[in-house]
Amino acid sequence: MQNYYQKEIETASREELLKIQNEKIVKQVKHVYENVPYYRNLMDKKGVKPEDIKSVDDIKKLPFLSKDDLREAYPYGLMGTDLKNCVRIQSTSGTTGKRVVAFYTQKDIDIWEECCARAIVAAGGTQDDVCQVCYGYGLFTGGPGLNGGSHKVGCLTLPMSSGNTERQIQFMMDLNATILCCTPSYAAFIGETLEEKGYKPEDNKLKAGIFGAEPWTEEMRRGIEKSLGIKAYDIYGLTEISGPGVAFECEEQSGMHINEDHFYVEIINPKTGEVLPDGEKGELVFTSLDKEGFPLLRYRTKDICILSRKKCSCGRTHVKMTKPMGRSDDMMIIRGVNVFPSQIEAVLLKEGYTPNYKIVVDRVGNNDTFDIYVEFTPGQFSDKISDIQTAEDKLKGAMRTMLGIGPKIHLVAPKSIERSEGKAVRVIDKRKLHD
Ligand code: ADP
Ligand code: ZN
Repeated sequence: MQNYYQKEIETASREELLKIQNEKIVKQVKHVYENVPYYRNLMDKKGVKPEDIKSVDDIKKLPFLSKDDLREAYPYGLMGTDLKNCVRIQSTSGTTGKRVVAFYTQKDIDIWEECCARAIVAAGGTQDDVCQVCYGYGLFTGGPGLNGGSHKVGCLTLPMSSGNTERQIQFMMDLNATILCCTPSYAAFIGETLEEKGYKPEDNKLKAGIFGAEPWTEEMRRGIEKSLGIKAYDIYGLTEISGPGVAFECEEQSGMHINEDHFYVEIINPKTGEVLPDGEKGELVFTSLDKEGFPLLRYRTKDICILSRKKCSCGRTHVKMTKPMGRSDDMMIIRGVNVFPSQIEAVLLKEGYTPNYKIVVDRVGNNDTFDIYVEFTPGQFSDKISDIQTAEDKLKGAMRTMLGIGPKIHLVAPKSIERSEGKAVRVIDKRKLHD
């Protein structure tokens, strides 16, 4: 049996959805033009008036917004309503630089939490579930978003926040948690710790996990599913647009449905800004259709992915996005070759290593150095230098096949690479420090 949190809208026909989007965008653009001077200036510069936007097809006439705009307009410059109408501020994690803040009215919070509720129900959540939220609470959107969604569904919510893995495990076992929400890297760590303590996957009551906020590979998904004995679902979002729940996976686990009644999505060529057709890889751009506190139009996320409108067996009609293949600013250019951390992770897991690694890039003279630190798995651990050398050479060869360049591999002792309780930091690019 299929379960939806808001069946009517989640399974609405494409025509119905389009009608809703068209109505919302006309109102939203007019509202932004009248209330957000920063964006009005951008529209004026481009020669676009609110009357030019008659449907979502006209969105392509609007100017883009980027994180630089958000930083320039920080903190209040892109608000869509008076501060007195807002009830909450959240902030980005600052993964790629200075944090930006976003404002929410109560209606914005309700919609955001409903989107998270859709994700929880799609992962099988009901009011019989115990939902353990170990995303960070506070300015980061992960904890508050899933917490609110869990309440809306009626799950018994365990607001753990991140960290203190001992306590996470104790509560998970004592209180029979059935749904786990955290970053995939933290889920992997919890799985590893449970195993270390002698628990088997069937010893816990978990059935599903809702993991997001950072890139993770299919290989990593399979590893987490196996170690925790669950089905692992992806969830995507960003503070600027609301937080987690902008898109979520259904049981098909083949991409995330974007909540199109609230967020209009485009894929563009990141170099030219040209809008690309479904099926082509490019940068995700979102327009909030009904946000009041922080109504961003055509916000460039820098996340790279592909959209698909293929019919989904779950019955939901909303467009699906692939897992982000990394951010355009995640991409490293090493010795002239484009390298994404996700490619490295895929190779490591395929070769039987854990997703615990560090990539260190530096420049000596005019040459880039490229080192990957990765842990032996406990079964592989060896004191013999020749064994280590052989394993390093094999991994280097696999990396070269995938990336086109060969990194220096350093196999290190199990558990010696620091674990993350939130978003994992896996790349240290020292070249930036020298510039
Ligand atoms: P920051 O940009 O500082 O990390 P946020 O905490 O708002 O701020 O995180 C949003 C970003 O996190 C997204 O733009 C995206 O790069 C990443 N992200 C969120 N969910 C996922 C996911 N499921 N898969 C990959 N990346 C994700
Ligand atoms: Zn689906």
